[in-house]
Amino acid sequence: MDDSLRELYQEVILDHSRHPRHFGALPSHTHMAEGHNPLCGDRVRIFLQVDPDERIEDVSFEGRGCAISVASASLMTELLKGRSVAEAEELMGGFLHLVKGEDTAVLTGEDRDRLEVMAGVSAFPMRVKCATLAWHAMKAALEHEGRAKTE
Ligand code: ZN
Repeated sequence: MDDSLRELYQEVILDHSRHPRHFGALPSHTHMAEGHNPLCGDRVRIFLQVDPDERIEDVSFEGRGCAISVASASLMTELLKGRSVAEAEELMGGFLHLVKGEDTAVLTGEDRDRLEVMAGVSAFPMRVKCATLAWHAMKAALEHEGRAKTE
């Protein structure tokens, strides 16, 4: 990855961490779960409003943590809104591959382009848990588990 691209990605991550999208509890939600990453101290709570056709009508998060965990949650909420539950799980699978530096063929070009900003995390194994925390919480919420494990 060249330096200008790396800088651009860092800017996107900082922007999301300073100005998180869809931040705050959803007053009306069908699913909710909490995630905690004890290694870094990141905490996140994910809210989902899923309609009877299994489509994510709305999604939000609240919590606090490092820039990577907040940016990842913010980015995730942007991508999930309007998706079906099945698509959300596919997206999560692709994202997990991406941050581990694995094959991301499961992601469509557009999704990969938007998530690519987090790919640099794969060089920092400790940071992978920060990046995936919100996603694990989202999955736990959809499965009505209430609490996410980071691994
Ligand atoms: Zn963290």
